[in-house]
Amino acid sequence: MPLPFLQIVQKARDAFRSGCTRSVDFRERQLKQLLWMLEENTSEILEAVGKDLRKVRVYVLADDGVNFSVDSKQEALLLEVNVVINEIKSALFHLKEWTKPEKPSKGLVNAMDTVIIYNDPYGVVLIMGAWNYPFQLSLMPLVGAIAAGNCAIIKPSEVASASADLMARLIPKYLDQDCFQVVLGGVLETTMLLKEQFDYIFYTGSATIGKIVRAAANEHLTPVTLELGGKSPIYIDNTVDMGIAVRRILWGKCVNAGQTCIAPDYVLCSEAVRASFVAKAKEVLEEWYGSNVKSSPDFGRIASDKHFTRLQSFLNNGRIAVGGETDPSERFIAPTILTDVKPTDPIMQEEIFGPILPVINVDSPSDAISFITSRDKPLAFYIFTNNSKDMKMLVENVLCGGISCNDTFMHAAVDTLPFGGVGYSGMGAYHGVYSFNTFTHKKSFLGKNLNPIAEKLISARYPPYSERKINF
Ligand code: NAD
Repeated sequence: MPLPFLQIVQKARDAFRSGCTRSVDFRERQLKQLLWMLEENTSEILEAVGKDLRKVRVYVLADDGVNFSVDSKQEALLLEVNVVINEIKSALFHLKEWTKPEKPSKGLVNAMDTVIIYNDPYGVVLIMGAWNYPFQLSLMPLVGAIAAGNCAIIKPSEVASASADLMARLIPKYLDQDCFQVVLGGVLETTMLLKEQFDYIFYTGSATIGKIVRAAANEHLTPVTLELGGKSPIYIDNTVDMGIAVRRILWGKCVNAGQTCIAPDYVLCSEAVRASFVAKAKEVLEEWYGSNVKSSPDFGRIASDKHFTRLQSFLNNGRIAVGGETDPSERFIAPTILTDVKPTDPIMQEEIFGPILPVINVDSPSDAISFITSRDKPLAFYIFTNNSKDMKMLVENVLCGGISCNDTFMHAAVDTLPFGGVGYSGMGAYHGVYSFNTFTHKKSFLGKNLNPIAEKLISARYPPYSERKINF
């Protein structure tokens, strides 16, 4: 029988107050345990992700009519397991340096004093993951929370239920059971959980629910990080090698069947570029998935019927230039490129979050900037050009979470770069040291010297005030 939420949070709070998470040794042990959890249970993790997103095992009909399974573990291994393992290893490597009190520079007035920034944990943090990368999006923030010395309640998305159940089973086996607890459930449970007081909330998901989370956090003045989504555009011109550009764009769109927060959402280009883009895209998709994408073990499925129906309705927008095949029984949507799409079409009003890529005509980089900046600030922006002047102009004029030039996704894989959105695509950032900082309160410390010379340095502040003292 699971504990009521109040008791779950209280248990974590008591553990935090005991001070056990403050030592670097404890944090190191927990991080190593998390690493072992991933290493020792990789196949179970891939199996669970496969059930939720059909990313791992795809059942195809062999020529002899017998069902057989094909393992295509690479995507899940890379983006659900290895990425978290790398984050843990990096945190372990840097932990001592990150946790050390910082000594900032100081002015003349404090020349004889001690000025320090202490890296304090917040306390009990709530981590709410999303379904599209169920392990990565719950565990990457957890690495930061542990490194920074917090206790954490982890709430994976109920939509990826096999992954959520596995996390609920594995985490108590590997991590301290008082400090780190998993809560399962959907809207009802999450609504109740959000009534509890946390010291920090880290949420990944849509902007609509992000607003609910932020409103709940406001009740207790709890700081939040919101990792949201939105429409991440591509600008592509005629200076690029189209073969390379298309492969990098389609990979970003096809990974996890387009269900990635930083998946390229739409393409902005001239009419001439559109023609060569579409022609090359046909070739590349054929090369990757063969003539029947549905039977390829390397292409995923849409996570729920609701999302499938929503995505299918977008296929009526514009003209299908590539793909367009669907199968509701498998929630399969082929990688699809739509042309003649109008900015007012439904597909251009919300994040697509699926393998459909509309192309919109623009005549210049300035037109692309006007198009993008007239909408909400994107989470990611992808520029494909060899023209450095245009690239500079695009980078400087588009406000967004992050940019990859001549690639998609990969800025998020650089662990020395912060990852996060701005405006409707989110607030706050994480990955690497930015995760540590997100879960850390920077506590200022001033240690004054009682020496008479130090006293002289600050004596101008005492009454009686005079012109001479002010000008001192
Ligand atoms: P989701 O349905 O998995 O929900 C995310 C979390 O919100 C879950 O823990 C869920 O239980 C909770 N939740 C759902 N409804 C709720 C409610 N009414 N009240 C309180 N909590 C509730 O995820 P989603 O929202 O479908 O995720 C898709 C969105 O997430 C997309 O916009 C995508 O771009 C974004 N996303 C962003 C990132 C990022 O890192 N920035 C990563 C992945 C996904």
